[in-house]
Amino acid sequence: MAIVINDEDCMGCETCVQLCPDVFEMNEAGDKAIVINADSDADCVDEAVDSCPGSAIAK
Ligand code: SF4
Repeated sequence: MAIVINDEDCMGCETCVQLCPDVFEMNEAGDKAIVINADSDADCVDEAVDSCPGSAIAK
């Protein structure tokens, strides 16, 4: 399953980027996170899903 972020629900808090920098980074504007490794099975992805305040990350 690919990891996806729902843009509308992302509030740009950067939590996912801090938890899992190999999978998430901020976009150029710095206001939304983007997925840079959608096929990752790293444990930190689950942590990011659970920690996202907007429930914006799905996998
Ligand atoms: S943790 Fe959620 S709300 Fe925060 S930047 Fe990542 S996707 Fe956006």
